[in-house]
Amino acid sequence: MYNSLLLLLEAVAYFGVMVTLFRLRRRIGIGVFVCALGAMHFLETYLASTFYVALPFGIVSPGSSVLFSGKLVMLLLVYMKEDAATVRQPIYGLLFGNALMIGLVLLLRQHDIAPLPSGLQPDIAFIDQMGWLMVWGTALLFVDAILIILLYERLGKYLRKALFARILISTACVLTFDQVGFFTALHFITGAPAEVFFGGWYAKMAAAFTYSMMLVAYIRWAGIHPIPAPRGLGDIFETLTYRERYEALVQHVGRDGLTGLWHRGRFETDGEQEIAASLASGKPLSLIVIDVDHFKSINDRFGHAEGDRALRSIATRLHEIAGPDDHVYRTGGEEFAILCRRPHPVARLLGENIRLAVKASGTADVCAVTISAGIATVSGSTASLAELFALADQRLYTAKASGRDRVVGEPSLAEPDQAQLSAGQAH
Ligand code: GH3
Ligand code: MG
Ligand code: MG
Repeated sequence: MYNSLLLLLEAVAYFGVMVTLFRLRRRIGIGVFVCALGAMHFLETYLASTFYVALPFGIVSPGSSVLFSGKLVMLLLVYMKEDAATVRQPIYGLLFGNALMIGLVLLLRQHDIAPLPSGLQPDIAFIDQMGWLMVWGTALLFVDAILIILLYERLGKYLRKALFARILISTACVLTFDQVGFFTALHFITGAPAEVFFGGWYAKMAAAFTYSMMLVAYIRWAGIHPIPAPRGLGDIFETLTYRERYEALVQHVGRDGLTGLWHRGRFETDGEQEIAASLASGKPLSLIVIDVDHFKSINDRFGHAEGDRALRSIATRLHEIAGPDDHVYRTGGEEFAILCRRPHPVARLLGENIRLAVKASGTADVCAVTISAGIATVSGSTASLAELFALADQRLYTAKASGRDRVVGEPSLAEPDQAQLSAGQAH
């Protein structure tokens, strides 16, 4: 009786702490719960291989009945409240962690062990035995977890309203299966007698019942007691996450919401810096400014949403065609700019590629979009962003005025007669 009470107390303590960690997962992260689950693993296996207490129906280990059964119920809870992808994280973690442990023990036993003054000797054989039991236990847990999820899902068809029965049947079936598997290993490794099997099985059934009751009580209670908002009294880790949040914010700041490209403000700061770097190093820097042709008519004909889609698609093209060193910006509604560390002819080629890619990506009837672009390269007369931009913009204007769907750069460079090229394609 005394032993039963203690086991019950252990189960309540285990369940209470683990469920509290799980409940707080949105605030402190699910990693806390998962680590606590993992930390119990050693104790669980240690107890299951050595620590037994007598109950009226046989001898029982708290390792199996309290800790292992509890872990399985916790995994079911994770599945119920999260999903299978989350459940598999602790399971794979335990599998790989145990495999690593076996590997390390293989290495450790190669040591020449220094004697301690107390004469204490490490019991490598015991660690070995524990290791294999842990691996076997975790392999079983892997199957158990899949089984319990499948059973729970399958039973949902018949017991949608009866949550307690659904959890109890799933847990009891899987724990029975597990008891057969774990006892088999225990029997061969530690020579456990048959009464351990039955004692363990009865205890696991009692655990299934107790945990199912607590789980249902918790789920019902949590359903009507949402977690209160944090009061701002965080721990040291709360403060540490500020850095990550700040970095995420910085990543987001400067991005345009529609296309994900850098926006105008970023263009101005980057532009000044890039020009200064180019002038200092003598390396080329070109600016391509792009404006979509007759964009207003796309909005008018197909609606604003379709216009937005076209802008996103153009942004994707720009992003794809630009190299890793080219910075792409959305400088206005349907205006884009690319800062590229390339000499003028190469920038022109890039502009042409973009023009052709955008033109090719529009489907024939909806949004046959074209763009015009102007290109300028840093030189003595364009030594500031304002001057560089003014020149590129002037060439963009030339492109528009001479028929659109073209890229205009330095006049001295031979330009193909695009008016004729595009006239042939478009009409
Ligand atoms: P062109 O440049 O060839 O001279 O003609 P255009 O029709 O593109 O002329 P303009 O540059 O004056 O018009 C730009 C239009 O782009 C005006 C505005 O309705 C539209 N626009 C600007 N920002 C957005 C946006 O975020 N989404 C959508 N759908 N349309 C936008
Ligand atoms: Mg415009
Ligand atoms: Mg336009």
